[in-house]
Amino acid sequence: MNVVDYLRISLVDRCNFQCLYCMPEGAKLDYILQQDLLTNSELLTLLKEVLIPNGFTRFRLTGGEPLLRPSVVELVEHINQLPQTQDLSLSTNAFLLADLAQDLYDAGLKRVNISLDSLDERTFGNIVGGTTQRIGKTRWQQVWAGIQAAHQVGFDPLKLNVVVIPGVNDHEVLDLAALTLERSWHVRFIEFMPIGNGDLFGDRGWLPSAEIRQSIRDRWGLTPGQVVGNGPADVFQIPGALGTLGFISQMSECFCDRCNRMRLSADGWLRPCLLNEHGQIDLKTALREGVSTPVLRDRVRDLLCLKPEINYKGRDSGTGTGHYSRTMSQIGG
Ligand code: SAM
Ligand code: SF4
Repeated sequence: MNVVDYLRISLVDRCNFQCLYCMPEGAKLDYILQQDLLTNSELLTLLKEVLIPNGFTRFRLTGGEPLLRPSVVELVEHINQLPQTQDLSLSTNAFLLADLAQDLYDAGLKRVNISLDSLDERTFGNIVGGTTQRIGKTRWQQVWAGIQAAHQVGFDPLKLNVVVIPGVNDHEVLDLAALTLERSWHVRFIEFMPIGNGDLFGDRGWLPSAEIRQSIRDRWGLTPGQVVGNGPADVFQIPGALGTLGFISQMSECFCDRCNRMRLSADGWLRPCLLNEHGQIDLKTALREGVSTPVLRDRVRDLLCLKPEINYKGRDSGTGTGHYSRTMSQIGG
């Protein structure tokens, strides 16, 4: 049986972007109230007394946008100092990264994944939506500054995630892949999933990794590659390139049998499968109601045993509608 040792921890469900593919267009999301967010102390208690004893040793901080959590640097420091932590990483849109990169690195974070869906400022603006600007920079310029800062402070590997949407950014696949030629960055192409903005998915569909890979192969050729923490990505390299290319093909390939992860939402729900709402446990409420951590530990142990049955494996989400009732930003993508 697969070892489940990887936990994606959502620090906040809110975001300063509203990516086309992640958030339902025009819809008002029900955000978690401040008092319902796990506090730092609750999160650390759950890690130390419930989750780590069940074998979780590798953690990714995500969201929503995790850099919106005011105590993100402090949390990195605490989690990094836990003796059982074998790996700690962060997924971010990088809008706030330029100012935080050094502090995060000094606190013990050594690798980051950054969403970058376009190199064109206008396309990027259309994808991430909103009007947020900082210190006279456009959103793309601010994100690019965050990526440069991440590179300069030494995050390694530095991964850039691209969700490919037909008719939106698929014409940029070669330009994005070319970033790896002279930089030791790792560009990962992610198949668009019908989660978040179902209407956009219905209109545009998704592009299989095999097609994206073929267009890159036709241009430069491709050889197998390697990168630390590749998870479900198939990794390749353009011959002679400094960086690598990853392909995450959750639509064209079911990797449920290899699934090594669970997700902890910002309001403390432990979720065994991204696409299936069955089985999740409300750890925060239980903790606040005084359920002891040894009892919670047993509940998580039982959930781990059930995970192979709960895994989605191409089934309906269990909601009966075929639509996933939460977005990636709410679940902690
Ligand atoms: N805000 C951070 C970011 O954008 O990296 C972290 C949270 S975001 C939900 C995590 C990842 O989920 C991003 O790489 C994003 O591209 C991906 N994602 C969100 N909605 C998706 C969808 N419908 N299909 C595929 N990937 C999606
Ligand atoms: Fe925010 Fe990340 Fe979702 Fe974009 S993908 S809206 S940056 S949570």
